Amino acid sequence: MNRAVFLDRDGTLIAEKNYLHRPEEVEIFPGAGAALHHLAAAGFKLIIVTNQSGIGRGYFTLADAENVNRHLCAEFVREGVHFEKIYIAPEAPDQPSRGRKPSPQFLFDARDELGLDLAQSYMIGDKPIDLECGWNAGVKKSILVRTGYGLESESALKGKEFTDTNTRPMIVNDLAGAANWILEQK
Ligand SMILES: [Mg+2]
Repeated sequence: MNRAVFLDRDGTLIAEKNYLHRPEEVEIFPGAGAALHHLAAAGFKLIIVTNQSGIGRGYFTLADAENVNRHLCAEFVREGVHFEKIYIAPEAPDQPSRGRKPSPQFLFDARDELGLDLAQSYMIGDKPIDLECGWNAGVKKSILVRTGYGLESESALKGKEFTDTNTRPMIVNDLAGAANWILEQK
């Protein structure tokens, strides 16, 4: 069975910009390409799972979001990094949605399509909903990065008690930190 690393997009792979929807606004975090390259070399499939409520709110279109993703993929390809799949949840928070995080639905879809072992896979993101998405899907670990909204998320999580070690988030500075940590696990 295959293992995967599920990745949030905004604030995790690229700089968080309010409702980013233009390719020229894409700013890949330094070191992100190398980090993903290491994960792929270790056999992890790379899958992006992104909530794009700006579509549901009418701020931009699905085509805009896909354009941004195409540009992002082209940039990462230059570093030898290929994403297996990109899942977009276009709904606003108050709209019914099949896959909007924290729903684990897209992770289940990817499991079925790509033959993934979710218990040996990871989720990386900058918001509590990213962590919850991973927990809901039963991944091995949800990892919080301190980029994007990560610092705010870290303080929001401070008061919480995680009695179950499986739902205690690993907190690292950035994507490179997350990749290094994953590669140290058995
Ligand atoms: Mg994010």
